[in-house]
Amino acid sequence: MRASHDSKGPPSGVDAQVRSQLQRRGLRLTGGRQAILNLLIEAQHPLSIGEIAAALPGLPRSSAYRHLADLQAAAVVRRVAASDEFARFELVEELTIHHHHLICTSCGTVIDVASSAALEQAMSQHLDHLALAHGFQPQSHRIDVLGLCLACRAPGGATIRQEPGRS
Ligand SMILES: [Zn+2]
Ligand SMILES: [Zn+2]
Repeated sequence: MRASHDSKGPPSGVDAQVRSQLQRRGLRLTGGRQAILNLLIEAQHPLSIGEIAAALPGLPRSSAYRHLADLQAAAVVRRVAASDEFARFELVEELTIHHHHLICTSCGTVIDVASSAALEQAMSQHLDHLALAHGFQPQSHRIDVLGLCLACRAPGGATIRQEPGRS
């Protein structure tokens, strides 16, 4: 899902912000971390470890996992809540924009969706109310919708495994 309009590059200032957040944890923006960040910025979409590995063939998977863990610890990257099998990663909302996810429980596809300002306001009001009733100070929310994507809803489903040589 690359931005085809206005050819907006990565938001300026992201690099500087990332650098200072890493610095606070005593981490440097190394080549490997930078490569993963650039990938996530360019994708504008949560990426799986498989997609990251495919796009960065020179980076061992173990290093990719380590970099992602460091970037998460520095609050630069977050893991999209899905099953372990379908873990995906994206930039934190402080570096992008507030949005929600549609997560397919069958194939793991994640679709980013932004809600209207009116819906956000109504949701925040309700959620703040719920939180405050528990003496909890709300700051933000994460709401993901779980279900089946269009492909998986199709007759037969998209994820039925082809079992070769079984006829
Ligand atoms: Zn699906
Ligand atoms: Zn929201």
